[in-house]
Amino acid sequence: MIEFSGLKLINTFMKIPFGFKENRLWFVTDVSNGAKCNCTCPKCDAPLQAKNNPNNIKIPHFAHLAHADCSYSGMTDVHLMAQQILLEHQSRRTPEFRDTPSLLLKDGGRIYGNEVIIPPAWIEAQATVLEYSWKGFQIDVAFPIGDKQLLMEIAVTYFIEPEKRRAVVKGDVAMIEIDLSGILSKDLFDKEAFTAKVLSPGELAVWINNPKGNALVKKGRKLLEPQQLHQNSLITKEEEKRAQKEQRKVEKELERKKRIAE
Ligand SMILES: [Zn+2]
Repeated sequence: MIEFSGLKLINTFMKIPFGFKENRLWFVTDVSNGAKCNCTCPKCDAPLQAKNNPNNIKIPHFAHLAHADCSYSGMTDVHLMAQQILLEHQSRRTPEFRDTPSLLLKDGGRIYGNEVIIPPAWIEAQATVLEYSWKGFQIDVAFPIGDKQLLMEIAVTYFIEPEKRRAVVKGDVAMIEIDLSGILSKDLFDKEAFTAKVLSPGELAVWINNPKGNALVKKGRKLLEPQQLHQNSLITKEEEKRAQKEQRKVEKELERKKRIAE
């Protein structure tokens, strides 16, 4: 919608990325062309037409069938479409896990073990649960996998809240956050690009918590313990030596003062 000198011009040519029917959202490439798409606008409920003519060079999109005072851009439904994609695919690529075990020394220094790297992998789930309720928190998507589960949060406007993150880390459950906050409006019109951004977004998906990775890091820390003990004993010896030296200096100074006083 464009406001111009008090004259309201309604943009009837506004391109709409998603249509709504049968209780879900559709990409234009998944429905019949024209009014036969039988979709309505997710925002204003008005009928849509699919503009998906293969001879047309324009990107396929939906448009209101009739003149409509509506400014639906699809951005508000990015979260919902991402959930739908996860529901349909029931699989995804996990992000890479990387962490280095380390232990603190008594002088404030640190010793490091070998970096733990778990490469990305495609995983298949037995089911998909949307709006999963976990320990009083609403989780966007859950994938049951064997006797475990992978929780997923989709960030468009809001990222995971600190209390939820703390609970996930404390409960040591697997959770990924998918960052769609920077998604471009052109990606909403491209089913393949949008799907890739949800299922395999590279660095835009991160581990909030990875129990397998955590266990390996913990093991790595355990391996560092003898070294920590040894280093700390060297630090203690060094400290004692320094203290003795300091003590001798003090004693010498006292003696000197005593001699002067005599
Ligand atoms: Zn509309």
